[in-house]
Amino acid sequence: MAHRPLGGKRVLICGASVAGTSLAYWLHRYGAEVTVIERAPALRPGGQAVDFKGETHRRVLQEMGVLEEIERRQTGKTDLLVVDGQGRQRATIPGEFIGGDVEILRGDLNEILYDLTAETCRYLFGDTITAVRDNGSGVEVIFEQAPAESFDLVLGADGIHSRVRRLAFGPEADYVRHLGYYYAVAGATVGADSADSADGTAPKQRAVGLMYNVPGRLALLGGSKAPELYVFAADPIDIDRGDAAAQKALLRHRYRDLHWRVPEMLGRLDGADDFFLDSIGRVQMDSYTRGRIALVGDSAYGNTLGGFGTGLAMVGAYVLAGELAKVDGDHRIAYPRYDAVMHPYAKIARKGNAGPFMAPRTALRIRLRNWTFTNRVTFKLMMKMTDSFANDVHLLDYPNLVQPA
Ligand SMILES: Cc1cc2nc3c(=O)[nH]c(=O)nc-3n(C[C@H](O)[C@H](O)[C@H](O)COP(=O)(O)OP(=O)(O)OC[C@H]3O[C@@H](n4cnc5c(N)ncnc54)[C@H](O)[C@@H]3O)c2cc1C
Repeated sequence: MAHRPLGGKRVLICGASVAGTSLAYWLHRYGAEVTVIERAPALRPGGQAVDFKGETHRRVLQEMGVLEEIERRQTGKTDLLVVDGQGRQRATIPGEFIGGDVEILRGDLNEILYDLTAETCRYLFGDTITAVRDNGSGVEVIFEQAPAESFDLVLGADGIHSRVRRLAFGPEADYVRHLGYYYAVAGATVGADSADSADGTAPKQRAVGLMYNVPGRLALLGGSKAPELYVFAADPIDIDRGDAAAQKALLRHRYRDLHWRVPEMLGRLDGADDFFLDSIGRVQMDSYTRGRIALVGDSAYGNTLGGFGTGLAMVGAYVLAGELAKVDGDHRIAYPRYDAVMHPYAKIARKGNAGPFMAPRTALRIRLRNWTFTNRVTFKLMMKMTDSFANDVHLLDYPNLVQPA
């Protein structure tokens, strides 16, 4: 009979996006009884693209058996053309820089990972956690809708504004640092991306992206990352994250004096049902675990638009589940090991800030940014640097523990 190192363990995961579904997959394979709670009423489609780079990411995707499907549904990556106010091209940011080795729409990735686990794990959509109490021998959880339950472990995979982190570790302000910028993604969920090729083998391709900057502001139209993306420099703004109308009004105000195709983009805002605005921030934590509770993905080492968030989340899920399995679910041993592997690997998330790259604050800095992409030497250097960040971890094997999926 297959060894089930986590057999009998009841685990609750909060958040059914990349980190949550990846965790569900591994924990189930090791024998745990997994429940995933997700605030949204269903899987979130999400139009923006995420990417994987290098051997470490590839290995985790291969071990999960999803690499082929991800490659089949990849975007194909698109270059970003930097244009001036008259639409003249000033520089090209190559697709290989922003799209890694393989790039896929986040909604497509979520669907692939959810399908892997939908039959074997219990998913509770449209609900959330309101309280957790670690009583030493288990965690009592109060839900908004479902009756209260007790679990052996509770894992927060609920993104940069994690509620699990707030409930178990303390207020967001203690852990998330505003990096001087805001971003907004706007698109329509219906017809947002072009269809697969007729035989389903060619990548999904969006039109080439156009990037327009004035100091401290960016408007990006098309490309694979997001249908329309805005990034602007700003001190913290007191705005309700649930109030899309107020956020759209703020964006219109911030971009009211811009030319190029910005008026056309703003004109489409009212019809954008896939819209969100948030600050660019990063999570700073010395440890991702407390008692029986642990954080994975953006909740632990998120960095908005910083790149690698998806790879970090999936590697983090692999490591946490593997370390738990190695010691038959003894979190007192596994959690410090998870911290020890992931803390150095996540250093890119603790250091990076995409804001100044996407919306440099002066005309000179915009020119400098463009120049780094037209100069072969600086471009090669940047590619090398991102490669080393993506692969800077030694992943252990946990193979003898895995039971057939
Ligand atoms: C515009 C954009 C572009 C990006 N581009 C890239 C890229 O190119 N490369 C890359 O690697 N990464 C990119 N990222 C980042 C990437 O999307 C994240 O790093 C990655 O998805 C991490 O996933 P996560 O599962 O930790 O968090 P999230 O994807 O944020 O998921 C959190 C989940 O938890 C749920 N949730 C939240 N609160 C609660 C609650 N209280 N109760 C229950 N459920 C809750 C949410 O609904 C969501 O499903 C990009 C992100 C954005 C926004």
